[in-house]
Amino acid sequence: MSAPLVVFGGTFDPPHIGHLLAAECARWQAGAREVRFIPAGDPYRKAAREVSPAEDRLAMTRLAILHNDALTVDDREVLRRGPSYTADTLAEYHAEGEQNLVFVIGIDALADMPNWKLPARIGELARLLVALKGEDASAIAPLARAAGLARIPEPLDMPALGISGTLIRGRVRAGKPIRYLVSPAVAGYIEEHGLYR
Ligand code: ATP
Ligand code: MG
Repeated sequence: MSAPLVVFGGTFDPPHIGHLLAAECARWQAGAREVRFIPAGDPYRKAAREVSPAEDRLAMTRLAILHNDALTVDDREVLRRGPSYTADTLAEYHAEGEQNLVFVIGIDALADMPNWKLPARIGELARLLVALKGEDASAIAPLARAAGLARIPEPLDMPALGISGTLIRGRVRAGKPIRYLVSPAVAGYIEEHGLYR
């Protein structure tokens, strides 16, 4: 069995300290060397709202992880174009020899999993760690069952941070500070490129 690899999929619009803390805690909990961020190319689950161009989200994700060698970025979903399906990406990893996968997912994303492509397959391809945002860990089991997962995933051991991309975009739009909610380089990118205005 290969060494555990943590994979973290998301829109990352923008990547924020909740993502970074979840990644670091998941790496520790899984005993992994590396956490791979995988920005979604065409996040079909977010079609209802305007999502920033994949190039911007990829660039911000690269900036967010700059100062931690254990965090890396995989651009395959961006390069693939078309809708991004986690089940496909995890299957590709397996085919490439990464068979000891740990997938980090927030509880809001777990609640949405019944709408994903092949959610049960995702549970077969990776061990899931669920990031809670203040909910009790007992909230995981019913959501996992609704998604058809054969195993109930473990909670991710991290202090809850009530931060989301939605919150940060709203703050930028309202002219409120986002310093300390995103890394300085990401804040600079948002400012320079006039994102979320
Ligand atoms: P949005 O509000 O646009 O959905 P988001 O903050 O949820 O943004 P995503 O890119 O959608 O960011 O999330 C990627 C993954 O990170 C998802 O599994 C999500 O649940 C998780 N996540 C997001 N914010 C946090 C947080 N504060 N703590 C732990 N996990 C989080
Ligand atoms: Mg989200």
